Amino acid sequence: MDNNRQNNNKDKKPGGGIPQSIFGALIALVAISFIYSMIFSGTAGRYLSNNQAEISYSEFIQKVNEGKIYRVRISSEDIYAYEKGETFNKDEEVEIKNEQDIKNVLENFQKSQDKIYHIVKVGDDKDLVNRLIEKGNIEIIGVKASIIMDLIISLAPFIILWLLIGMFARRMSGGMGGGIGGIFSVGQSKAKRYMQRETGVTFKDVAGEDEAKESLQEIVDFLHNPKKYTYVGAKLPKGALLVGPPGTGKTLLAKAVAGEAKVPFFSMTGSDFVEMFAGVGASRVRDLFKQAKAAAPCIVFIDEIDAIGRSRDTRAGSGADSEREQTLNQLLSEMDGFEINNGIMVMAATNRPEILDQALLRPGRFDRRIVVEKPDLKGRINILKVHAKDVKLDDTVDFEEIALSTSGAVGADLANMINEAAITAAKAKRDKVCQQDLKDAVEVVLVGKEKKDRILSKEERKIVSYHEVGHALVTALQKHTEPVQKITIVPRTMGALGYVLQTPEEEKYLNTKKELEEKLVVFLSGRAAEDIVFDTITTGAANDIEQATKLARAMVTQYGMSEKFGLMGLATNHSMYLENGVDMNCGDETATQVDEEVQKMLKDAFEKAKAMLKEHREALDKIAEYLIEKETITGKEFMKLFTEITGIAEVKNERVSEKEDGDNV
Ligand code: ADP
Ligand code: MG
Ligand code: ZN
Repeated sequence: MDNNRQNNNKDKKPGGGIPQSIFGALIALVAISFIYSMIFSGTAGRYLSNNQAEISYSEFIQKVNEGKIYRVRISSEDIYAYEKGETFNKDEEVEIKNEQDIKNVLENFQKSQDKIYHIVKVGDDKDLVNRLIEKGNIEIIGVKASIIMDLIISLAPFIILWLLIGMFARRMSGGMGGGIGGIFSVGQSKAKRYMQRETGVTFKDVAGEDEAKESLQEIVDFLHNPKKYTYVGAKLPKGALLVGPPGTGKTLLAKAVAGEAKVPFFSMTGSDFVEMFAGVGASRVRDLFKQAKAAAPCIVFIDEIDAIGRSRDTRAGSGADSEREQTLNQLLSEMDGFEINNGIMVMAATNRPEILDQALLRPGRFDRRIVVEKPDLKGRINILKVHAKDVKLDDTVDFEEIALSTSGAVGADLANMINEAAITAAKAKRDKVCQQDLKDAVEVVLVGKEKKDRILSKEERKIVSYHEVGHALVTALQKHTEPVQKITIVPRTMGALGYVLQTPEEEKYLNTKKELEEKLVVFLSGRAAEDIVFDTITTGAANDIEQATKLARAMVTQYGMSEKFGLMGLATNHSMYLENGVDMNCGDETATQVDEEVQKMLKDAFEKAKAMLKEHREALDKIAEYLIEKETITGKEFMKLFTEITGIAEVKNERVSEKEDGDNV
């Protein structure tokens, strides 16, 4: 079994003498690949080589327009687009004398293969098919979704390869040994599929996160040139733990380290280790490290390590837990079992560092902690730029404005927004993305798509309209709030029946008590408007109430902003990077008092909102009428009406507050 894996690694490991029979294996491998690619006319390439890439819909369209694509396969969910590879003489006999020859053969083989792009399908095919037909010269193949055929096609190369490798391994170890047995043993070789020889990601692809990159640079440097460090006798940390909220680029950073250092990247996700079968996790860890050692210098990356690294004393001893514990123990012993000088750098990522077992964090293990924060304004601008690199933009585009309105968004959200904007532009048959596309994309990511088919009754529209104008008016009437940018009563897919979009004028890191108090009033003003006008209340304010309660509670228990408790900390945040991670740490009686205090604050805020709206009832009615008619009005239109009716010019902001929220009804 061992031979079997080593064998598989040989071609990945430069240097060192290669036994004769490996040549045979390699040649057979190439031959099999040829046969395969002939039989399945290119489909197999996607499993056997690096010639497949995932691209976005917009890149795909671009390639079609550039005339690069000669064949397109369309199934119900996917599109595969084929680009011709360079040709070379497949029949030419190559004499193999050394490693370089093998490399050349493999390289030529890869170049000759078609590039196959995988695109996740967006929208309707008729459009696409017509467009492709218009282009001419493109072979269009429809694929009926046949799971079984797909499965056979995708599994066959693996099975053939495994059999082949098993055969060679057996021959090498003198005919005996568990070649075939090894092939079918559970969980053994999963790591293979997770090895990337080159991640192709560098620090340039990661925007912002300068502190994290700086700490990681050291690791890159070490992997590049270990002698420099070992010569002086410096010991580097064996493991680095990336911690931060989801979507901030932890996985991306780990890949970038491998890319910068030009070393192979082994990665597995915590949950991969945890399976139903006992002992599988531990054996996967063993296997992973064995392969990594053979490929060193390299990076072993364990994503979402909390799945296995959860503190051992905080959990009951169910079956799954003892499995997890075994896996964790194996990981610890592997990490203790090698010297960093062997050139393996272990990295892990998590968004729940507080639940990790202390043993993982001890010196010699993940003793370096690298914090990957949510991006600030500048970070967001840079992330937008990185992702817009291959997107055509017109000159209305202003990333700063977008970044300002997306406080709290992480890299993954921003990447998503750029893509949404590009799709919008492509759908509208424009060849460039404009600022409005980006603004719409921000809304799509924050509150979902417009849901045009949800028809509200006349009465409902009226209620929603008053509710939203209530929010907007109270926002405008207070000093420390963010300017209203848009009010709409077009329902969205993520549940909002309407909302008020607010955008801060500058990035903020601290909120004053005043700002938070005013925010509370804004949250409750939708309900206040309903109460005043219709004398009934609806379910529409559920989200407002939830947010208001959360904020009021945090003000009392965490920010020391209540008169009653003053500076006393009454709750601890046990999860830094996830929401809902707050635990009360006070006696029952105090907890009851906290509840009372929160209730009081909410009630006060509600009364304040009602008072304001009653005072400006005329504005409320008129603007709500206007909104019912228009469905969506801009902040400018709103302010114009507001000033006309109330005679109040802008009550504008001394400071604007940080969080922008697409506020659900
Ligand atoms: P995490 O592992 O922290 O949950 P990922 O690394 O998986 O986040 O990020 C998801 C995607 O979001 C990335 O593939 C990338 O496209 C984008 N992204 C996140 N952070 C950044 C960043 N700082 N710079 C550029 N892109 C980013
Ligand atoms: Mg991740
Ligand atoms: Zn609301």
